[in-house]
Amino acid sequence: MATLKLSNVKKRFGKTEVIHGVDIDIADGEFIVIVGPSGCGKSTLLRMVAGLETVTGGDIEISGKRVNDLEPMDRDIAMVFQNYALYPHMNVFDNISYGLKIAKVPKDEIASRVATAAKMLQLEDYLLRKPRELSGGQRQRVAMGRAIVRKPAVFLFDEPLSNLDAKLRVQMRLEIKALQKELGITSVYVTHDQVEAMTLADRMIVMHDGVADQIGAPLEVYANPATQFVAGFIGSPA
Ligand code: ADP
Ligand code: MG
Repeated sequence: MATLKLSNVKKRFGKTEVIHGVDIDIADGEFIVIVGPSGCGKSTLLRMVAGLETVTGGDIEISGKRVNDLEPMDRDIAMVFQNYALYPHMNVFDNISYGLKIAKVPKDEIASRVATAAKMLQLEDYLLRKPRELSGGQRQRVAMGRAIVRKPAVFLFDEPLSNLDAKLRVQMRLEIKALQKELGITSVYVTHDQVEAMTLADRMIVMHDGVADQIGAPLEVYANPATQFVAGFIGSPA
């Protein structure tokens, strides 16, 4: 169970402000998609939530607790990236369980969590394989598995499917959505792909030059764009 709240969140790199005060209130179990063109600040915003970038203005709260100054490890968050950075020399089981070993989770607990995740992700028959012996979709599932076994309060996804071909992207998109619903984990998903945003989101946030132009259910945003930018961006899929 977790809520996520951003209040007037800002980010400055040197003298340049790239996030200009974003407010988002995310309900427990909600799947939020942040969509916008390259360079608008999506990754920076997500990295601040993860604790990988400092926050230079405003507050980030998880379940009512201010986390601005917490280390990434202490935020109860798991992040899935576009370059999922599996360890090439480790098999699937070891890749999925690596974080749990570091956290000193007992061995039998690790085995049972990996088994559950592998079943959900259809990786049961691949646990002893190395990443190079897997397809792109399977590698992406391993990255998902690594996030799932940690049982985080919040999932963050940064363009996790953009390295996959179009057909696989559609399939994995559906899998991620089904999995998120099954687990009920509050999720923030970043993409530049309008169709992906429309398909996945409970609510979507359309970002433009460091500002959240509009927040709403996909069809609501599509039917009633709040700005000229939203009208153009959501109305004309790439
Ligand atoms: P997106 O993920 O939407 O493509 P980013 O969050 O990566 O956008 O980048 C937003 C803006 O912040 C861009 O102008 C980018 O150049 C700038 N930026 C991102 N990271 C840094 C950094 N470490 N130092 C300076 N500028 C950065
Ligand atoms: Mg990005």
